[in-house]
Amino acid sequence: MALKTPAEYVDSLRELNIRAYVNGERVDSVADHQSIAPHINTVAKTYELAHDPEHRDVMTAESHLTGERIHRYTHIFHSADDLVKKIQMLRLLGQTTGTCFQRCVGLDALNALYAITYEIDQGEGTTYHERFRDYLTGVQRADLMLAGAMTDPKGHRAKRPSQQEDPDQFVRVVERREDGVVIRGAKLHNTGGINSHEILVMPGTGLSEEEADYAVSCAVPANADGVLFIFGRQSNDNRKLEGGCDIGNPRFGVVGGEAMVVFDDVFVPNERVFMNGEAKYAGTMVNYFATWHRANYGGCKGGNADVLIGATAKMTKVLGTERNSVVRDKLIEMIHMNETTYASAIGASAMGYELPCGAYMVDPMMANTVKQNITRNVYQIGRLSHDLAGGFLATMPGEQSFDNPEIARFVEKYHQANPEYETRDRVKLGRYIENMTSVTTMVEAMHGAGSPQAQRIVMLGQADIDKKIEMAEQVIDGDDDVEGLPLPGKRQAAEVEG
Ligand code: SF4
Repeated sequence: MALKTPAEYVDSLRELNIRAYVNGERVDSVADHQSIAPHINTVAKTYELAHDPEHRDVMTAESHLTGERIHRYTHIFHSADDLVKKIQMLRLLGQTTGTCFQRCVGLDALNALYAITYEIDQGEGTTYHERFRDYLTGVQRADLMLAGAMTDPKGHRAKRPSQQEDPDQFVRVVERREDGVVIRGAKLHNTGGINSHEILVMPGTGLSEEEADYAVSCAVPANADGVLFIFGRQSNDNRKLEGGCDIGNPRFGVVGGEAMVVFDDVFVPNERVFMNGEAKYAGTMVNYFATWHRANYGGCKGGNADVLIGATAKMTKVLGTERNSVVRDKLIEMIHMNETTYASAIGASAMGYELPCGAYMVDPMMANTVKQNITRNVYQIGRLSHDLAGGFLATMPGEQSFDNPEIARFVEKYHQANPEYETRDRVKLGRYIENMTSVTTMVEAMHGAGSPQAQRIVMLGQADIDKKIEMAEQVIDGDDDVEGLPLPGKRQAAEVEG
Protein backbone atom coordinates (compact mmCIF):
# COMPACT_ATOMS: atom_id res chain seq x y z
CA MET A 1 0.00 0.00 0.00
CA ALA A 2 1.78 3.11 -1.22
CA LEU A 3 -0.60 5.57 0.45
CA LYS A 4 -1.34 5.17 4.15
CA THR A 5 -4.66 6.35 5.56
CA PRO A 6 -4.62 8.62 8.61
CA ALA A 7 -5.84 5.74 10.78
CA GLU A 8 -3.09 3.47 9.46
CA TYR A 9 -0.51 6.13 10.27
CA VAL A 10 -1.75 6.46 13.87
CA ASP A 11 -1.96 2.68 14.33
CA SER A 12 1.56 2.30 12.97
CA LEU A 13 2.82 4.73 15.62
CA ARG A 14 1.15 2.69 18.34
CA GLU A 15 2.86 -0.43 17.02
CA LEU A 16 6.26 1.29 17.05
CA ASN A 17 6.09 1.79 20.82
CA ILE A 18 8.98 4.25 20.92
CA ARG A 19 10.78 5.43 24.05
CA ALA A 20 9.57 9.00 24.63
CA TYR A 21 9.41 11.43 27.56
CA VAL A 22 7.11 14.41 28.06
CA ASN A 23 7.71 16.76 31.01
CA GLY A 24 10.14 14.23 32.43
CA GLU A 25 7.70 11.31 32.35
CA ARG A 26 7.92 8.20 30.16
CA VAL A 27 5.03 8.06 27.72
CA ASP A 28 3.21 4.74 27.21
CA SER A 29 1.99 5.53 23.71
CA VAL A 30 2.81 8.72 21.82
CA ALA A 31 -0.39 8.40 19.80
CA ASP A 32 -2.43 8.45 23.00
CA HIS A 33 -0.70 11.31 24.79
CA GLN A 34 -2.51 14.66 24.97
CA SER A 35 0.64 16.71 24.37
CA ILE A 36 1.63 14.82 21.22
CA ALA A 37 -1.79 14.00 19.72
CA PRO A 38 -2.24 17.46 18.09
CA HIS A 39 1.05 17.02 16.22
CA ILE A 40 0.03 13.55 15.11
CA ASN A 41 -3.35 14.90 14.02
CA THR A 42 -1.53 17.49 11.90
CA VAL A 43 0.53 14.84 10.14
CA ALA A 44 -2.61 12.71 9.73
CA LYS A 45 -3.93 15.52 7.48
CA THR A 46 -0.96 15.03 5.16
CA TYR A 47 -2.00 11.39 4.80
CA GLU A 48 -5.70 12.24 4.46
CA LEU A 49 -5.35 14.81 1.68
CA ALA A 50 -3.34 12.37 -0.42
CA HIS A 51 -6.52 10.29 -0.76
CA ASP A 52 -8.63 13.27 -1.86
CA PRO A 53 -9.10 13.18 -5.67
CA GLU A 54 -9.22 16.99 -5.69
CA HIS A 55 -5.64 17.20 -4.37
CA ARG A 56 -4.17 14.10 -6.00
CA ASP A 57 -1.93 16.02 -8.37
CA VAL A 58 -0.40 18.12 -5.61
CA MET A 59 -0.30 15.57 -2.78
CA THR A 60 0.95 12.58 -4.74
CA ALA A 61 3.50 11.83 -7.44
CA GLU A 62 4.68 8.96 -9.59
CA SER A 63 7.70 7.21 -8.15
CA HIS A 64 10.66 7.29 -10.52
CA LEU A 65 11.76 4.02 -8.91
CA THR A 66 8.61 1.91 -9.10
CA GLY A 67 6.17 3.87 -11.27
CA GLU A 68 3.65 3.59 -8.44
CA ARG A 69 1.57 6.47 -7.15
CA ILE A 70 3.27 7.63 -3.94
CA HIS A 71 2.92 10.41 -1.42
CA ARG A 72 4.75 13.55 -2.51
CA TYR A 73 6.42 13.54 0.91
CA THR A 74 8.45 10.52 -0.18
CA HIS A 75 9.16 11.76 -3.71
CA ILE A 76 12.48 12.81 -5.22
CA PHE A 77 12.20 16.18 -6.99
CA HIS A 78 12.83 15.57 -10.67
CA SER A 79 11.67 18.79 -12.28
CA ALA A 80 10.84 22.41 -11.66
CA ASP A 81 7.24 21.25 -11.72
CA ASP A 82 8.03 18.92 -8.80
CA LEU A 83 9.47 21.84 -6.85
CA VAL A 84 6.44 23.98 -7.65
CA LYS A 85 4.09 21.18 -6.63
CA LYS A 86 5.95 20.83 -3.36
CA ILE A 87 5.35 24.51 -2.60
CA GLN A 88 1.71 24.16 -3.62
CA MET A 89 1.41 21.16 -1.29
CA LEU A 90 2.89 23.18 1.60
CA ARG A 91 0.47 26.03 0.93
CA LEU A 92 -2.49 23.67 0.93
CA LEU A 93 -1.38 21.96 4.14
CA GLY A 94 -0.72 25.30 5.81
CA GLN A 95 -4.21 26.43 4.89
CA THR A 96 -5.67 23.18 6.21
CA THR A 97 -3.83 22.90 9.53
CA GLY A 98 -2.64 26.40 10.35
CA THR A 99 0.60 25.01 11.72
CA CYS A 100 3.74 23.02 10.91
CA PHE A 101 2.97 19.65 9.36
CA GLN A 102 6.49 18.35 9.96
CA ARG A 103 7.08 16.03 7.04
CA CYS A 104 9.04 18.50 4.89
CA VAL A 105 12.24 17.96 6.89
CA GLY A 106 12.25 14.27 6.05
CA LEU A 107 11.39 15.02 2.43
CA ASP A 108 14.29 17.42 2.00
CA ALA A 109 16.58 14.98 3.83
CA LEU A 110 15.55 12.21 1.42
CA ASN A 111 16.44 14.43 -1.53
CA ALA A 112 19.74 15.51 0.03
CA LEU A 113 20.65 11.88 0.63
CA TYR A 114 19.64 10.94 -2.88
CA ALA A 115 21.99 13.60 -4.26
CA ILE A 116 24.93 13.14 -1.94
CA THR A 117 25.06 9.35 -2.10
CA TYR A 118 25.36 9.66 -5.88
CA GLU A 119 28.19 12.18 -5.56
CA ILE A 120 30.08 10.15 -2.97
CA ASP A 121 29.87 7.09 -5.20
CA GLN A 122 31.15 9.10 -8.16
CA GLY A 123 34.07 10.44 -6.19
CA GLU A 124 34.96 7.51 -3.95
CA GLY A 125 33.79 4.39 -5.79
CA THR A 126 31.33 3.47 -3.03
CA THR A 127 27.87 1.99 -3.53
CA TYR A 128 25.76 4.18 -1.27
CA HIS A 129 23.39 5.38 -3.97
CA GLU A 130 22.09 1.94 -4.91
CA ARG A 131 21.72 1.18 -1.23
CA PHE A 132 19.79 4.40 -0.73
CA ARG A 133 17.52 3.71 -3.70
CA ASP A 134 16.59 0.37 -2.10
CA TYR A 135 15.86 2.11 1.17
CA LEU A 136 13.82 4.80 -0.60
CA THR A 137 11.74 2.21 -2.41
CA GLY A 138 10.78 0.75 0.97
CA VAL A 139 9.94 4.20 2.33
CA GLN A 140 7.74 5.00 -0.65
CA ARG A 141 5.91 1.69 -0.56
CA ALA A 142 5.22 1.93 3.19
CA ASP A 143 4.49 5.70 2.98
CA LEU A 144 6.63 6.33 6.03
CA MET A 145 6.90 9.56 7.93
CA LEU A 146 10.56 10.49 8.19
CA ALA A 147 12.15 13.04 10.47
CA GLY A 148 15.31 14.71 9.24
CA ALA A 149 17.83 15.14 12.06
CA MET A 150 20.59 17.68 11.44
CA THR A 151 21.10 20.02 14.42
CA ASP A 152 23.73 18.74 16.83
CA PRO A 153 23.93 20.06 20.41
CA LYS A 154 27.25 21.69 19.36
CA GLY A 155 28.64 22.18 22.88
CA HIS A 156 31.04 25.13 23.14
CA ARG A 157 30.20 27.17 20.03
CA ALA A 158 33.75 28.46 19.58
CA LYS A 159 35.06 24.91 19.13
CA ARG A 160 34.87 22.48 16.24
CA PRO A 161 33.43 18.97 16.68
CA SER A 162 36.88 17.46 17.17
CA GLN A 163 37.85 20.15 19.75
CA GLN A 164 34.92 19.65 22.13
CA GLU A 165 35.61 18.62 25.70
CA ASP A 166 32.73 16.14 25.27
CA PRO A 167 33.19 14.48 21.83
CA ASP A 168 29.52 13.45 21.77
CA GLN A 169 28.32 17.02 21.19
CA PHE A 170 28.09 16.10 17.50
CA VAL A 171 26.64 12.73 16.44
CA ARG A 172 29.52 10.42 15.63
CA VAL A 173 30.45 6.84 14.88
CA VAL A 174 31.88 5.26 18.04
CA GLU A 175 32.32 1.78 16.61
CA ARG A 176 32.64 0.31 13.12
CA ARG A 177 31.61 -3.33 12.70
CA GLU A 178 31.58 -5.53 9.64
CA ASP A 179 27.78 -5.35 9.50
CA GLY A 180 27.25 -1.73 10.47
CA VAL A 181 28.13 1.18 12.73
CA VAL A 182 27.33 2.25 16.29
CA ILE A 183 26.43 5.94 16.63
CA ARG A 184 26.32 8.15 19.71
CA GLY A 185 25.12 11.72 20.29
CA ALA A 186 21.90 13.67 20.00
CA LYS A 187 20.02 15.84 17.55
CA LEU A 188 18.05 18.83 18.85
CA HIS A 189 14.88 20.69 17.83
CA ASN A 190 13.87 17.61 15.92
CA THR A 191 10.64 18.44 14.13
CA GLY A 192 8.12 15.61 14.17
CA GLY A 193 10.64 13.04 15.32
CA ILE A 194 8.50 11.90 18.23
CA ASN A 195 5.72 10.88 15.82
CA SER A 196 7.83 9.63 12.93
CA HIS A 197 8.60 6.10 11.81
CA GLU A 198 12.26 6.74 11.06
CA ILE A 199 14.95 9.33 11.69
CA LEU A 200 17.27 10.38 8.86
CA VAL A 201 20.54 11.36 10.55
CA MET A 202 22.67 13.90 8.68
CA PRO A 203 25.86 15.74 9.59
CA GLY A 204 25.12 19.16 11.04
CA THR A 205 28.09 21.02 9.60
CA GLY A 206 30.96 20.87 7.13
CA LEU A 207 33.77 18.65 8.38
CA SER A 208 37.51 18.27 7.95
CA GLU A 209 39.25 15.00 7.10
CA GLU A 210 40.25 14.57 10.78
CA GLU A 211 36.56 14.66 11.68
CA ALA A 212 35.61 11.59 9.64
CA ASP A 213 33.84 9.95 12.58
CA TYR A 214 31.32 12.79 12.53
CA ALA A 215 30.61 12.28 8.83
CA VAL A 216 27.75 9.86 9.26
CA SER A 217 24.36 9.71 7.62
CA CYS A 218 21.91 6.89 8.18
CA ALA A 219 18.29 5.89 8.64
CA VAL A 220 17.35 4.84 12.17
CA PRO A 221 13.96 3.37 13.08
CA ALA A 222 12.36 5.49 15.79
CA ASN A 223 12.04 2.41 17.98
CA ALA A 224 15.63 1.18 17.59
CA ASP A 225 17.47 0.16 20.76
CA GLY A 226 19.22 3.17 22.28
CA VAL A 227 16.97 5.80 20.66
CA LEU A 228 14.92 8.00 22.97
CA PHE A 229 12.94 11.21 22.51
CA ILE A 230 12.69 14.03 25.05
CA PHE A 231 9.85 16.39 24.13
CA GLY A 232 10.50 20.15 24.53
CA ARG A 233 8.26 22.55 26.45
CA GLN A 234 6.45 25.28 24.53
CA SER A 235 4.98 28.60 25.66
CA ASN A 236 1.47 28.12 27.06
CA ASP A 237 1.68 24.37 26.52
CA ASN A 238 -0.50 23.64 29.57
CA ARG A 239 -3.35 25.62 28.03
CA LYS A 240 -3.73 22.93 25.41
CA LEU A 241 -4.69 20.51 28.17
CA GLU A 242 -7.31 22.78 29.71
CA GLY A 243 -9.79 22.82 26.85
CA GLY A 244 -12.25 25.67 26.30
CA CYS A 245 -11.56 28.82 24.36
CA ASP A 246 -7.98 29.39 25.60
CA ILE A 247 -6.29 26.77 23.44
CA GLY A 248 -5.50 28.57 20.19
CA ASN A 249 -5.29 25.93 17.47
CA PRO A 250 -7.47 23.28 19.12
CA ARG A 251 -6.93 20.23 16.89
CA PHE A 252 -3.46 20.72 15.46
CA GLY A 253 -0.04 21.30 16.93
CA VAL A 254 1.86 24.45 17.81
CA VAL A 255 4.89 24.45 15.49
CA GLY A 256 6.37 21.04 14.88
CA GLY A 257 6.32 19.17 18.21
CA GLU A 258 10.09 19.40 18.52
CA ALA A 259 12.06 16.94 20.60
CA MET A 260 15.61 16.02 21.44
CA VAL A 261 16.50 12.65 19.92
CA VAL A 262 19.21 10.79 21.78
CA PHE A 263 21.30 8.10 20.09
CA ASP A 264 22.71 6.22 23.05
CA ASP A 265 25.04 3.83 21.23
CA VAL A 266 22.64 2.83 18.49
CA PHE A 267 23.62 0.07 16.07
CA VAL A 268 22.79 0.87 12.43
CA PRO A 269 23.15 -1.99 9.91
CA ASN A 270 25.08 -1.31 6.71
CA GLU A 271 22.01 -1.26 4.48
CA ARG A 272 20.85 1.85 6.38
CA VAL A 273 24.18 3.70 6.32
CA PHE A 274 24.59 6.28 3.53
CA MET A 275 27.71 8.15 4.60
CA ASN A 276 30.41 6.69 6.78
CA GLY A 277 33.52 8.82 7.10
CA GLU A 278 33.40 10.75 3.81
CA ALA A 279 33.97 14.07 5.59
CA LYS A 280 34.51 16.23 2.53
CA TYR A 281 30.90 15.63 1.40
CA ALA A 282 29.33 16.70 4.72
CA GLY A 283 29.26 20.43 3.91
CA THR A 284 27.67 19.86 0.51
CA MET A 285 25.00 17.67 2.04
CA VAL A 286 24.17 20.29 4.68
CA ASN A 287 23.97 22.88 1.93
CA TYR A 288 21.69 20.76 -0.25
CA PHE A 289 19.31 20.11 2.63
CA ALA A 290 19.29 23.70 3.88
CA THR A 291 18.73 25.19 0.44
CA TRP A 292 15.69 23.05 -0.18
CA HIS A 293 14.32 23.75 3.28
CA ARG A 294 14.70 27.60 3.23
CA ALA A 295 12.40 28.68 0.04
CA ASN A 296 11.16 34.83 9.44
CA TYR A 297 8.56 53.13 25.52
CA GLY A 298 11.94 54.76 25.79
CA GLY A 299 12.41 54.53 29.58
CA CYS A 300 10.63 51.45 30.93
CA LYS A 301 11.17 49.45 27.80
CA GLY A 302 14.74 50.72 27.78
CA GLY A 303 15.25 49.33 31.28
CA ASN A 304 13.53 46.08 30.36
CA ALA A 305 15.65 45.86 27.24
CA ASP A 306 18.80 46.46 29.32
CA VAL A 307 17.98 43.31 31.28
CA LEU A 308 17.09 41.43 28.10
CA ILE A 309 20.33 42.53 26.44
CA GLY A 310 22.18 41.43 29.60
CA ALA A 311 20.46 38.03 29.58
CA THR A 312 21.24 37.65 25.89
CA ALA A 313 24.88 38.67 26.40
CA LYS A 314 25.19 36.15 29.24
CA MET A 315 23.64 33.53 26.99
CA THR A 316 26.42 34.14 24.47
CA LYS A 317 28.94 33.39 27.23
CA VAL A 318 27.04 30.21 28.11
CA LEU A 319 27.20 29.22 24.44
CA GLY A 320 30.81 30.31 24.01
CA THR A 321 30.02 32.79 21.23
CA GLU A 322 30.70 36.03 23.12
CA ARG A 323 33.92 36.83 21.22
CA ASN A 324 32.45 36.27 17.76
CA SER A 325 32.42 39.60 15.89
CA VAL A 326 28.99 38.96 14.34
CA VAL A 327 27.56 38.21 17.78
CA ARG A 328 29.08 41.39 19.19
CA ASP A 329 27.69 43.40 16.29
CA LYS A 330 24.18 42.08 16.97
CA LEU A 331 24.51 43.10 20.62
CA ILE A 332 25.59 46.56 19.41
CA GLU A 333 22.48 46.71 17.23
CA MET A 334 20.28 45.84 20.24
CA ILE A 335 22.02 48.56 22.27
CA HIS A 336 21.66 51.04 19.40
CA MET A 337 17.92 50.51 19.09
CA ASN A 338 17.43 50.67 22.83
CA GLU A 339 19.45 53.87 23.24
CA THR A 340 17.68 55.45 20.25
CA THR A 341 14.30 55.13 21.92
CA TYR A 342 15.73 56.16 25.27
CA ALA A 343 17.40 59.23 23.71
CA SER A 344 14.10 60.21 22.10
CA ALA A 345 12.39 59.97 25.47
CA ILE A 346 15.08 62.14 27.04
CA GLY A 347 14.73 64.56 24.12
CA ALA A 348 10.94 64.72 24.47
CA SER A 349 11.42 65.55 28.14
CA ALA A 350 14.18 68.11 27.57
CA MET A 351 12.01 69.85 24.99
CA GLY A 352 9.04 69.90 27.34
CA TYR A 353 6.96 73.06 27.74
CA GLU A 354 4.85 74.60 30.44
CA LEU A 355 1.13 74.19 30.41
CA PRO A 356 -1.16 76.98 31.59
CA CYS A 357 -1.49 75.17 34.92
CA GLY A 358 2.29 75.32 35.41
CA ALA A 359 2.84 71.66 34.85
CA TYR A 360 5.17 70.62 32.03
CA MET A 361 4.28 68.66 28.98
CA VAL A 362 6.76 66.62 26.96
CA ASP A 363 7.28 67.51 23.31
CA PRO A 364 4.36 65.74 21.60
CA MET A 365 6.16 65.01 18.35
CA MET A 366 9.13 63.41 20.04
CA ALA A 367 6.98 61.52 22.56
CA ASN A 368 4.92 59.97 19.80
CA THR A 369 8.07 59.14 17.88
CA VAL A 370 9.37 57.27 20.93
CA LYS A 371 6.27 55.12 21.07
CA GLN A 372 6.28 54.53 17.32
CA ASN A 373 9.86 53.32 17.54
CA ILE A 374 8.96 51.07 20.46
CA THR A 375 6.41 49.27 18.30
CA ARG A 376 9.35 48.32 16.10
CA ASN A 377 12.46 48.27 18.22
CA VAL A 378 11.13 46.01 20.97
CA TYR A 379 10.33 43.44 18.30
CA GLN A 380 13.70 43.91 16.64
CA ILE A 381 15.56 43.64 19.96
CA GLY A 382 13.56 40.48 20.74
CA ARG A 383 14.35 39.18 17.28
CA LEU A 384 18.07 39.65 17.83
CA SER A 385 17.80 38.05 21.27
CA HIS A 386 16.17 35.01 19.65
CA ASP A 387 18.84 35.05 16.97
CA LEU A 388 21.67 34.96 19.52
CA ALA A 389 20.06 32.60 22.04
CA GLY A 390 19.16 30.02 19.39
CA GLY A 391 16.42 27.49 18.71
CA PHE A 392 16.92 26.22 22.23
CA LEU A 393 14.43 28.90 23.31
CA ALA A 394 11.63 27.05 21.53
CA THR A 395 12.51 23.50 22.51
CA MET A 396 14.33 23.56 25.87
CA PRO A 397 13.30 20.93 28.39
CA GLY A 398 11.19 21.62 31.47
CA GLU A 399 12.32 21.34 35.09
CA GLN A 400 10.86 17.84 35.42
CA SER A 401 13.24 16.50 32.80
CA PHE A 402 16.17 17.23 35.11
CA ASP A 403 14.52 15.20 37.89
CA ASN A 404 13.95 11.91 36.06
CA PRO A 405 17.10 9.75 36.49
CA GLU A 406 16.32 7.89 33.21
CA ILE A 407 16.89 11.02 31.13
CA ALA A 408 18.52 13.64 33.40
CA ARG A 409 22.02 12.78 32.18
CA PHE A 410 21.04 13.27 28.54
CA VAL A 411 19.25 16.54 29.28
CA GLU A 412 22.31 17.79 31.17
CA LYS A 413 24.86 16.51 28.66
CA TYR A 414 23.27 17.59 25.41
CA HIS A 415 22.22 21.05 26.60
CA GLN A 416 25.59 21.91 28.03
CA ALA A 417 27.58 24.37 25.94
CA ASN A 418 30.48 26.21 27.61
CA PRO A 419 31.35 23.82 30.47
CA GLU A 420 31.96 26.79 32.78
CA TYR A 421 28.18 27.15 33.04
CA GLU A 422 25.51 24.80 34.40
CA THR A 423 22.89 23.48 32.00
CA ARG A 424 20.13 24.64 34.38
CA ASP A 425 21.53 28.19 34.19
CA ARG A 426 21.12 28.03 30.43
CA VAL A 427 17.48 27.01 30.86
CA LYS A 428 16.88 29.78 33.44
CA LEU A 429 18.25 32.37 31.04
CA GLY A 430 16.26 30.87 28.20
CA ARG A 431 13.01 31.04 30.16
CA TYR A 432 13.68 34.70 31.01
CA ILE A 433 14.23 35.53 27.34
CA GLU A 434 11.16 33.48 26.40
CA ASN A 435 9.01 35.48 28.86
CA MET A 436 10.39 38.86 27.82
CA THR A 437 9.92 38.21 24.12
CA SER A 438 6.57 36.43 24.25
CA VAL A 439 3.38 37.47 22.52
CA THR A 440 2.08 39.28 25.62
CA THR A 441 5.24 41.34 25.99
CA MET A 442 5.44 42.20 22.32
CA VAL A 443 1.77 43.08 21.96
CA GLU A 444 1.99 45.30 25.01
CA ALA A 445 4.84 47.17 23.31
CA MET A 446 2.73 47.44 20.16
CA HIS A 447 -0.56 48.60 21.66
CA GLY A 448 0.21 49.96 25.14
CA ALA A 449 -0.19 53.77 25.24
CA GLY A 450 -2.06 53.57 21.96
CA SER A 451 -1.73 51.60 18.77
CA PRO A 452 0.84 52.64 16.15
CA GLN A 453 -1.64 54.47 13.96
CA ALA A 454 -2.64 56.75 16.86
CA GLN A 455 0.95 58.00 17.08
CA ARG A 456 1.19 58.48 13.35
CA ILE A 457 -1.90 60.69 13.32
CA VAL A 458 -0.37 62.92 16.04
CA MET A 459 2.99 62.97 14.28
CA LEU A 460 1.38 64.18 11.04
CA GLY A 461 -0.52 66.89 12.91
CA GLN A 462 2.62 68.02 14.76
CA ALA A 463 4.86 67.95 11.73
CA ASP A 464 3.41 71.07 10.01
CA ILE A 465 4.01 69.85 6.49
CA ASP A 466 3.20 73.29 4.98
CA LYS A 467 6.07 74.77 6.97
CA LYS A 468 8.41 72.14 5.66
CA ILE A 469 7.31 72.94 2.10
CA GLU A 470 8.15 76.60 2.76
CA MET A 471 11.59 75.54 3.98
CA ALA A 472 12.18 73.54 0.82
CA GLU A 473 11.06 76.41 -1.41
CA GLN A 474 13.29 78.88 0.40
CA VAL A 475 16.32 76.60 0.13
CA ILE A 476 15.76 75.92 -3.57
CA ASP A 477 14.50 79.28 -4.86
CA GLY A 478 15.37 81.77 -2.10
CA ASP A 479 17.63 84.79 -2.68
CA ASP A 480 18.47 86.01 0.83
CA ASP A 481 22.21 85.33 0.48
CA VAL A 482 25.02 87.71 1.41
CA GLU A 483 25.73 90.09 -1.47
CA GLY A 484 28.98 89.62 -3.36
CA LEU A 485 29.51 85.90 -2.82
CA PRO A 486 30.36 83.89 -5.99
CA LEU A 487 27.55 81.36 -5.53
CA PRO A 488 27.42 78.96 -8.52
CA GLY A 489 23.64 78.54 -8.48
CA LYS A 490 23.12 82.32 -8.57
CA ARG A 491 25.57 82.81 -11.41
CA GLN A 492 23.80 80.16 -13.43
CA ALA A 493 20.45 81.84 -12.82
CA ALA A 494 21.88 85.24 -13.81
CA GLU A 495 23.35 83.76 -16.97
CA VAL A 496 20.05 82.15 -17.87
CA GLU A 497 18.26 85.46 -17.37
CA GLY A 498 20.96 87.35 -19.37
FE1 SF4 B 1 7.40 22.02 6.71
FE2 SF4 B 1 9.48 23.16 7.93
FE3 SF4 B 1 7.24 24.57 7.32
FE4 SF4 B 1 7.19 22.70 9.28
S1 SF4 B 1 8.37 24.62 9.29
S2 SF4 B 1 5.65 23.01 7.67
S3 SF4 B 1 8.57 21.19 8.43
S4 SF4 B 1 8.70 23.64 5.88
